[in-house]
Amino acid sequence: MQKKTHDAAMLAEAATAEADRWRSRDLAVLWHPCTQMREHPHTLPLLPIERGEGPWLIGRDGRRYLDAISSWWTNLFGHAEPRIAAAIARQATTLEHVILAGCSHAPAVELAERLLAIAPREVDREPLAKVFYADNGSAGVEVALKMAFHWFRNRGVEGRTKFIALEGGYHGETLGALAVGDIPLYRRVYAPLLAEALFAPSPDAYLCEPGETPAQRAQRAADALRDLLERHADEVCALILEPRVQCAGGMRMHDPLYLKLVRQLCDAHGVFLICDEIAVGFGRTGTLFASEQSGVQPDLLCLSKGLTGGALPLAAVLATQSIYDGFLDDSREKAFLHSHSYTGNPLACAAALATLGIFASDDVIARNRTTAARMAGLAAAFADHPQVADVRQAGMIVAFELTRGGDKRTPFNPDARIGLRAYRAALERGVLLRPLGDVLYWMPPYCVDDDALQLLASTTHAAIDHAIKEAACA
Ligand SMILES: *Cc1c(COP(=O)(O)O)cnc(C)c1O
Repeated sequence: MQKKTHDAAMLAEAATAEADRWRSRDLAVLWHPCTQMREHPHTLPLLPIERGEGPWLIGRDGRRYLDAISSWWTNLFGHAEPRIAAAIARQATTLEHVILAGCSHAPAVELAERLLAIAPREVDREPLAKVFYADNGSAGVEVALKMAFHWFRNRGVEGRTKFIALEGGYHGETLGALAVGDIPLYRRVYAPLLAEALFAPSPDAYLCEPGETPAQRAQRAADALRDLLERHADEVCALILEPRVQCAGGMRMHDPLYLKLVRQLCDAHGVFLICDEIAVGFGRTGTLFASEQSGVQPDLLCLSKGLTGGALPLAAVLATQSIYDGFLDDSREKAFLHSHSYTGNPLACAAALATLGIFASDDVIARNRTTAARMAGLAAAFADHPQVADVRQAGMIVAFELTRGGDKRTPFNPDARIGLRAYRAALERGVLLRPLGDVLYWMPPYCVDDDALQLLASTTHAAIDHAIKEAACA
């Protein structure tokens, strides 16, 4: 017995040393995304991950972490999902890649057919009819923005050069995508480089005035948008938004009524509606696409992240036949010449097809309803927490807004780094959260079970309490 304990201790020590070796090798050569590298590894832990298994990540030190944020909202059915892995492996030994200009391949065609078949649809509106591929979400947003702008140019309309976007919105990090984003931390430095966009007030229900309902808030935001359009419609080619949840902006949620009103306003002013469902698509908000909750079909739909189940980078932009037809001409300049080397990569398309297969065979949306109800039950316990100002949920996303005394008007001083402290405390307890400022959220892979959800809830509780105490002592 004693020998066994001794051996286990030796193994644990070796594992820790192994993790430390990977940490130093990493920091010697890698520059990580979305990170002030100076904070590694002391302020901000760096986790060398060896493998994934369902909703779990297994570290080089042998520790298990619940991936409560689905690895930046990409993962749907757990890590190393065998059906997706097999589809990629099969495709890799058949055709790994081929230029998509002038060539065609089955995965790209089949995926386009299936995406168009499940895309949001309004009766009496021409359906989404064509698919353009890109290789990440930001690139997909660039495609949609360029298409909208170029379509008007091709019709001889030169004045519609601007986009309308929402306050608190996020659409990616490339310069075009940043121009329609409103997260100061990402945007401010690059402001001199960005195309001008017009920002409309967010319908964010967290910003409701006392006594105001989310639907009233949505109506008020739509009224402000109407004013903006009445003044500027002639300069605007498209409006872009994240339906239902502004994710990077702090998992801020709004009433589905808003998108319905936006659809009407866009129609009235001849402005294209771009729905960015890169984060909220594929079941995250309870329906396959968030736009469905408003009964709305956009003119351009951006998809990525969950599109491949989280296995490979891929984006798809769905467009109407009229938008597509606007580029048909004898002139090559009127064509949409946008291209990426890896456009429509067969491996990524195969992963996406496997993902859609799982949606069809496993009744994912119905099963998620049960999981979402469990999440709601666990989240309810936070409503009375003294530092929680808001608990909100949209399907498989739950968010907790932390403020001083739980009062919306008294956010924590950002320098207190409450979110970062909670992140560290949760990691200590085996859960990977990654708060957005002081907003903690759950966005787990759909395969998360009851035990994992219990761990998530108790860890979130402990992490909040730890963060508050630690900040008070700092
Ligand atoms: C993540 C995200 C993007 C950007 O996608 P990347 O693949 O990270 O470039 C765009 N829009 C929304 C709503 C997102 O959440």
